[in-house]
Amino acid sequence: MSARQSFSGIHNARIHCSIENDELRIYPASEPPEIDLRHNRMSLDGVLQNCCSPSAPFRARVLSLYDVLSASFVDQRLSISCVRRKNSKKPVKTYVFDAQPNEDCQGFVKSIWAAAYRSTPTKKRVKVLLNPFGGSGKAKAIWNDTICPIFNAAHYVSDVQETQHSGHAAEIAESMQLDKYDIIACVSGDGLPHEVINGLSRREDAGRALKVPIAFIPAGSGNGSSKSIYDTNKHVECALSIVKGVVTPIDLMSMTQGGRRFMSYFSTSYGVIADCDVGTEHLRWMGELRFTVGVVQRIFQRTCYPCTLSLSVISDDKDSIRREFHARNAAKQGKIAGNTHHDFDVSKETGLPALRYGSVNDPVPDTWTTTHYPKMGTFYAGLMPYMSSTTCFFPTSTPATGLMDVMHMQGNLPFFSALNTVVSVEKADHFNSKYCYYAKCDAFRLTPEQHTGHISVDGESVAFQAIQGEVHQGLGRIITKNGQFFSEFSE
Ligand code: ADP
Ligand code: MG
Repeated sequence: MSARQSFSGIHNARIHCSIENDELRIYPASEPPEIDLRHNRMSLDGVLQNCCSPSAPFRARVLSLYDVLSASFVDQRLSISCVRRKNSKKPVKTYVFDAQPNEDCQGFVKSIWAAAYRSTPTKKRVKVLLNPFGGSGKAKAIWNDTICPIFNAAHYVSDVQETQHSGHAAEIAESMQLDKYDIIACVSGDGLPHEVINGLSRREDAGRALKVPIAFIPAGSGNGSSKSIYDTNKHVECALSIVKGVVTPIDLMSMTQGGRRFMSYFSTSYGVIADCDVGTEHLRWMGELRFTVGVVQRIFQRTCYPCTLSLSVISDDKDSIRREFHARNAAKQGKIAGNTHHDFDVSKETGLPALRYGSVNDPVPDTWTTTHYPKMGTFYAGLMPYMSSTTCFFPTSTPATGLMDVMHMQGNLPFFSALNTVVSVEKADHFNSKYCYYAKCDAFRLTPEQHTGHISVDGESVAFQAIQGEVHQGLGRIITKNGQFFSEFSE
């Protein structure tokens, strides 16, 4: 829209409002900036109607269009809402302007929406699942105080449901009417998305159902997934990343254990990490600190977890894994993957894909390497970089490559060597440690050789028995900030 639209003043100073490049500028008419029509400038005159102090002079504001959530023109009033990044209790600011009688500025409103969202679809319908039990129990407050106001301001339609028991989110996902929603948002730790993916995968139309994108709002004691996807666990930023984000394909894993098959989107651990993931339930009140306390305790005790590990290794050369990661990143620089609501073809998508390597009950395929580890300390396999908001275990993890990152470390290392390696995880320096094995794999089988212990999948405890996993490339969908994961290796 190139037409200039005007408003007459009622009180206070006249203001201009214009869209320029990536910014929305609001400034007093008495201080007109240089006008350059070559830059597709749009502007209108108006009067600021309900600023905090109507008699105070209006200061010019420059808003990033990325922060603008909505604009509307109702009853001769133009409203523009944007996020307040630094105030999670009042996360939305709305500017309201009075217009002249009979003034129509619908064209300007349309221009604001188009500039603020570009090709990202707007006004989505969201199924919101809250886990009141996650972390220190703040999911409801996080939703009410921060996420809901932002979703409302973005004209999202939210259908909110609190989970009543463990497994409830899976039941909801299994039976929900998919065409009623554009997104399923989990206000939780990593566990609720795990349930949602498993609920969707149990449906007859699993292939199609798994393409409903999942959004992550951190409210648990383990929030590595949201950190990997949005580069932060700050709630205002996560909500904004969801509203402005893109639908992105991700790898999922089929896990088989006994006669059971289920899905994983995030991680499998055995040894120190699993013990701390699910063996420190009594410390859940500590939030993420419970992992740190657990890990240091176990390293000090030099705890070992004997097992046999079979890996389908694609590469275990750290230099080439790093080079490949940077080449892939450079190729993607500036590009955004995916943008559509739903990208499924209803006529084609049916159940889950077949298992290429069979199940945990079949013989280990000949192409895999099998090793016995009597002194295993930590086995960890992951599909995203951050395993908590501060630990980037898998810095080379990228979405939808069809490969998981695998690392393991012995449990009988000298205390300070082990501690150094674990501390270096924060900056992903463990990747370079001689104590840390690191590989890209498309499948594994782990057989524990103890009577009791923990295996954790996506931070959830599973049976303590042999487990096999294989990757399905790009089977799931999530909302990411820009189609990529964030990691300590990202530029
Ligand atoms: P955290 O990061 O603290 O582990 P999660 O969101 O991962 O938080 O969830 C932890 C567990 O809470 C999951 O196993 C989930 O099934 C369970 N859960 C969900 N809703 C409820 C509920 N209403 N009561 C008890 N447990 C629940
Ligand atoms: Mg959890």
